[in-house]
Amino acid sequence: MKKKVGFKTLGCRLNQFETDALASRFVGLGYEVVEDSKDTDVFVVNTCTVTNQSDQKSRYVVNNALNSGHSGMLIITGCMANHHKEKLEQRYPNAYVVGNEQKSAIPQLVEAHFHKEIVPVNQNKGGVFSYAPAADTFHTRSMIKIQDGCDNYCTFCIIPKVRGRAVSRPVNEILKNIRLVIGFGYNEVVITGVNISRYKHEETNFSGLIKQIVDLDLDFRLRISSIEPDSFDDEFFELLKHPKITPHLHLCLQSASESVLLKMRRMYTYKLYKRTVDRLREIDPLFNVTTDIIVGFPEESESDFQQSIEAVKDLRFGHVHTFKYSKREDTRAARMTNIVSEKEKTRRSELLRQEARQAKLNYRQQFIGKQQQVLIDTIKDDYSKGYGEYYIPVKVNEKLAKNRLYNMQIVDIELNGEDPCLIAEVVAK
Ligand code: SF4
Repeated sequence: MKKKVGFKTLGCRLNQFETDALASRFVGLGYEVVEDSKDTDVFVVNTCTVTNQSDQKSRYVVNNALNSGHSGMLIITGCMANHHKEKLEQRYPNAYVVGNEQKSAIPQLVEAHFHKEIVPVNQNKGGVFSYAPAADTFHTRSMIKIQDGCDNYCTFCIIPKVRGRAVSRPVNEILKNIRLVIGFGYNEVVITGVNISRYKHEETNFSGLIKQIVDLDLDFRLRISSIEPDSFDDEFFELLKHPKITPHLHLCLQSASESVLLKMRRMYTYKLYKRTVDRLREIDPLFNVTTDIIVGFPEESESDFQQSIEAVKDLRFGHVHTFKYSKREDTRAARMTNIVSEKEKTRRSELLRQEARQAKLNYRQQFIGKQQQVLIDTIKDDYSKGYGEYYIPVKVNEKLAKNRLYNMQIVDIELNGEDPCLIAEVVAK
């Protein structure tokens, strides 16, 4: 009987990429791969540590698996495994706690475990780019890792501590990976990394890499997803007009107050951010800009906060992920005084969320009457769902094929819920 390996992934797309690659490797080794811990021989929790809440969620997944009777091999990996390695080893003495640098070697670790070999976790070679292109994944889009780590040291962020210094994957490996996954049948490729705009491999910078990707003589669409707003050059703006590149970027703003941005040690001003969004909307008036905003950063005044509220109205974001500032030990912001109370953070977060909900609805309503090419990722008995070029969920009341692109006419929008879906009819199959 096949051995069963379960996965649970928290956090960002980079973690999702790494889980997908591991899952695909396990399929290749003859394992059955599932998305929970039930009846599994191995359960891998790919954790996140970006906020206190991420730590809590990661621990909850581990505890939940153990409380539900998981008695197989337990592997805790990801950023929390780097950040809290010793604590986790004490708390879960039977678990393997595997840092990000060794994560790619988890299949070897599991095989060794079942062959009763003793493999010290930290001696596994692994490597942050040693993931084979994944054929069997949990996703309809193929995520491609181009970069890892970050040298920015924003004052609130623990990620440089757990992901290390910025490193870039060689161009030829990235292009080869893309060729292979398109051959596996993927229609969309998503670029991932911690700080992808800092990509630099030998003479190739980020724009140079994107140019080589879109020049591949293959039929696919490219999603750039999350990028820091500080390093756009003219060449990149030009590239964004390319038909293979989807008109959506997740540009983390964090705050619209110049003084808070300075205290966060972000590498841009709000003025530059706004100019960037304006240029994106010159390329395409519907360009989808989504963002993250932190409320309640130390010393954030009411007037600083109001500037973030105004930005949400002004910049017509397609989605805003609102975070209450979460103190991370070992960061510079953790030593700042004049902290904002939890109650006040909650108030600000609620107000920002309300504004963001309205902005999202206003943004999405503009698509009624327009066409979208939708990549179907969810099939239910009476409807199918997917995402169009602009990364907005689209629903159609018929059963379609998963992982296929359909041209659709947007006829309406669902008004209930946090994530209003566009309603569409298929115009071409
Ligand atoms: S750019 Fe700043 S927020 Fe983003 S990973 Fe680097 S240090 Fe963290």
